[in-house]
Formats: sequence, structure tokens, C-alpha cells
Amino acid sequence: MTSFSSKHRPEIIQQLSNTPFDVLVIGGGITGAGIALDASARGLKVALVDMQDFAGGTSSRSTKLIHGGLRYLKQLELKLVAEVGKEREIVHRNAPHLTKPEPMLLPIIKQGSLGLFSARIGMWIYEWLAGVKKEEWHKVLSVEETLKREPLLNRTNLLGGILFYEYRTDDARLTIEVMKEAVSKGAVALNYSKVTSFKYIDGKISGAIIQDQIGNETFEISASYVVNSTGPWVDDLDDLDNSKATHKLHITKGVHLVVDHHKLPIHQSVYFDTPDKRMLFVIPREGKTYIGTTDTFYHDDIKHPTITDEDRAYLLNCVNSFFPNSQISISDVESGWAGLRPLINKPGKGPSEISRKDEVFMYDSGLLTIAGGKLTGYRKMAQRITNIIAKRIEDATGKQQVACITEHTQLSGGKIKSDISFSDFISLKIKEGVALKLSVKEAEILVNRYGSNVDVIFKLIQQLNETETSAMPVMLRAQIVYSIENEMCLTPSDFFIRRTGALYFDIALVKTWQKETTAYMQQHLLWNDELMKAFNEALQQNIEEVERLSR
Ligand code: FAD
Repeated sequence: MTSFSSKHRPEIIQQLSNTPFDVLVIGGGITGAGIALDASARGLKVALVDMQDFAGGTSSRSTKLIHGGLRYLKQLELKLVAEVGKEREIVHRNAPHLTKPEPMLLPIIKQGSLGLFSARIGMWIYEWLAGVKKEEWHKVLSVEETLKREPLLNRTNLLGGILFYEYRTDDARLTIEVMKEAVSKGAVALNYSKVTSFKYIDGKISGAIIQDQIGNETFEISASYVVNSTGPWVDDLDDLDNSKATHKLHITKGVHLVVDHHKLPIHQSVYFDTPDKRMLFVIPREGKTYIGTTDTFYHDDIKHPTITDEDRAYLLNCVNSFFPNSQISISDVESGWAGLRPLINKPGKGPSEISRKDEVFMYDSGLLTIAGGKLTGYRKMAQRITNIIAKRIEDATGKQQVACITEHTQLSGGKIKSDISFSDFISLKIKEGVALKLSVKEAEILVNRYGSNVDVIFKLIQQLNETETSAMPVMLRAQIVYSIENEMCLTPSDFFIRRTGALYFDIALVKTWQKETTAYMQQHLLWNDELMKAFNEALQQNIEEVERLSR
């Protein structure tokens, strides 16, 4: 079995350099992770590299919904709506710990973008296309019922509401669980390893040259098929290929802000109209409420999209005009993130009008590029790419290839026995956590975050309680050790942003344990002084960027 531990980085580099792979996947966001899982589940030998941490690009910066794409109905994207709508259920089934049904309230207001009648027609079409199960069909609410569900709404202008279901997720953790599952099926994956050029044999792509971003060494990976799934960077990678591919992306930026829940104490998620006829979400999560998103064309640094004063003012203005009773000010903003949508270029269209569909591009060199798409549809995108590779292998070898099996592949953390419901599983594990002296809340966070892998965390807690005394909570230490050894967590920012989401949803925890976490990781990973300094500074910068949002 291959390792997904940061402690084994040198051995993993050796393995990547010495193995002839069937497929090299470039990019460890949700798209690349999905392809690595699909291909390795079919028995192909897969390598995957990412120049940053896994999910370090768009896949940790979304609205964090596994959703049916209701709004794409307006653009008559019927195929997209049908596909992502159906995928919701599959993602939920295979990773119930990471995808929770989320009742969503759509208030209907005078002069809003949807009337009650058009919204109902839209809902019917959507539910039919997406095959929504009966218990999650929408309900139409009167004004009183709407206000009862969400008392914060403004009664003036309210015509009623529609209640429907989406699924809430943790995008970065979903990506990492998909990657862990791929690795458990034999894929070899490495973060902080950048493709700087490609290798060719007789004009056909045969691998890539990789620059290790930590140790600074260069190594080569050989593979029969190479996939460019680098999201907002796909054009840059295509430029490295000799195919002279035309640029295909239109990048738009989306920003989210986080406030404490008591500043915007919504009872549930709301999908509401903005003064400029767009729609925004407000979503409660872990004692906070997050608000998003903007949608503006973006031409700056892809690696570090930032939140401007205009982005922040726009979101606060929208939320304050729809929820006039809770006036949120700049100083209430605790955190936030900006993400880039890698959309397929359609000249003449506005940012919100460009299709969210994915598209595959095949070049003479053999390079396969996939761009566009949604977090929700990652499995189908992976299936499309892997089908192309399987067909090429069949044509070249005459050997029939295995079909896609990921519809029924439970993800890492999702392996809950079928004789127990997920809510019973949670209750059972909370009891086990409490027996280890965790509070109910702590145990609940761990079970929901790690699903069926929580047993490993509990075991670590037990071991650490027996072997260590520390001011740092054992729950935090156990997660650090787990993420280093099982999730290729390498830096404090990896831990606080993509393994736990704490930078966004529990900034107080990050600030309290910043120094101790870095020291504890150093103890386990034995960084040299230079790395220690660089990682410390990176985390400090992440904290300062978030703190700047409230000034
Ligand atoms: P990325 O996650 O960006 O991954 C690409 C990776 O490639 C990066 O990690 C990068 O480091 C790596 N890379 C780049 N160059 C190199 C190189 N030279 N060598 C090695 N690696 C390299 N979808 C939903 O389904 N639900 C939502 O609620 C939702 N909300 C969204 C909200 C916003 C604001 C945005 C921006 C998007 C949202 N999406 C949503 C869409 C979804 O997040 C994206 O479609 C998806 O995350 C894209 O994943 P990706 O793997 O293609 O790209």
C-alpha cells in the first residue's frame, strides 16, 4: 500500500521517480483527486502532483455546497442541472460525514428575480431533472410560515417562500478524502511538487519534470497518459506543452465573508436576492454565518486572490439590505476567503452568465486537459477523462479496460456499516469520545470531520493521554499527528486551513495555539530552521490577511 504521510516524503519522491505510471495527474484539487480515484479504482497506476497543498487552489475556496445548480436553469443548462443534481445524492451516499442535507430558504419578494409561480415551475423542472427524492421535494411557504422559519427576514415586500434542500460540505476535506481513497487504491500523490515542463518521446507526451517546492530538488515522472487538471492554471500548463493550445479560460473571482452567528443569527441557510438582481447565500456553520459570493472578472495573481474593500462592501451592503435588523459592520467580519472559478471562455458574456460546464481538450501531443465544472460534478468529470484514457489503452493494447466503479466507492471516512444509520453512528461515536474525556461538542466535531476514520483519532487521543503532558488540547494534538501521518499535512497553514478549516471558522483557536502547533509539527516533521521560519511566516501572513478584513 502507498503512503500518504508527510514523514515519507523522500520515499514517495523515490517511488514517483522510479515507477513507470499509466497516468500522471497534474493538480490536486477536486478534479485531479477525482481522476486519481477513478483511474486507480480501475486498476491503473496513477501518480498525482500539486505545486501547493492539496485543495490549495479553488477547491478550498468555494461556497462549500454540493448543490443541484438550480440557478443554471435560468441559463437553460438542463444537462448540467440534471447531472450535478443526480451527483448530489451519490456524493452524499459515499461521504455522509462530509455532505449534510441543508434546508435552504428562498424568500420570494416583490420585484425579486423570481416570482412565486416562476420559482415553483423552476423547482418542479429542477426536481424532475435532478431526480430529487420525494422527502426532499420543495415546499411552498406562506408569508407567516416563511417568517416563522426565518424571523430575521423583512416582512415588507415578502410574498412567501420556498423551502428546498441542498447539501453542505467541506470542500477541502472532501478533496482530501477523495485523495486518501485514491491512495488507498494504489495512487502515489505528492503535494508541493510543481510541474515545470513535460517530457516527450517521438513528439508524444511521456511524463513531466517536477520541481520539489520543499527540498528544491528536481525529479522526473514517466507516464503513458498525462492529464492537466490544474483548474485556474490550465492555460499555463497547456502553454508548457508543444500543442500551442489556445487559451480557454475566463477566470472570475468569488468572495465569502464570515461573521459570528450572533451577528447574523439566521435559523437556517437562506438564498436571497441582491439589489443588483443576483442571488447570495447566507449559511450557518459551527457557530458562524458565512455570506457569499461575489462574481467578478479576475486578471491578477492566480495563486493569491485577495478580498478587496469593494468585495467586502458589496457583500455587507447586500446582506444588510436584505436583513435590515442585523446591521453587520466591517469590524464584525472575522474571516473570509476568495476563490477563482476556472470557467470556459465565452466572449461577450457577463461573469455570472458564463456556463459552469466542464470541457475536455485533447491535443496532438496526447495531453488531456479538463477545465470548468463544479465541485459537485467531480466524479462525472473524472469518469469522462478516465473513459478517454481507457479507450486509448484499449486501442493501443487490444485489452478491454474496467468500467468506472466510483458510483459505489465509499470515500475515506465514509465507510459506515450499512446496518447503522449515520445519525446512530454519530451518537455511538460521541459516547466513545466522551469516554475518552472529550466534551460532547468536541466528540461531535471529530466524528463529523473524520467519519469512520474517527476511530484512528480516538486511538491517538488514548495514546497521547498515556504518553504526553501538554498545555495544548489533546484533541488538537491528535488531529495534527493524524493529518501528518494520514493526510500529507506538511505546514501549519495546511493544518489550520485545509485539514480543519479553523482559519475560516475558528480564528480564535488558530491564534491561541499558533506557536504551540508550529512547535509540535516541527517535533514530528523535523523541519530545518529555514523551513520552520518560512512556515511560521506563512501562517502569520494567513492570520493577518484574515484580520485585515475587520479593519
Ligand atoms: P483547483 O482546486 O484550483 O485545483 C487545481 C490545482 O492545480 C491547484 O491545487 C494548483 O496548485 C495545481 N497546479 C497548478 N499548476 C500546477 C503545476 N504547474 N504543477 C502542479 N500542480 C499545479 N462548486 C460546487 O459544486 N459547489 C459550490 O458551492 C461552489 N462554489 C464555488 C464558489 C466559488 C467562489 C468558486 C470560485 C467556485 C465554486 N465552485 C463550487 C466551483 C468549484 O469550487 C470548482 O469547480 C472546483 O473547486 C475546481 O477544482 P479544480 O480541481 O479544477 O481546481
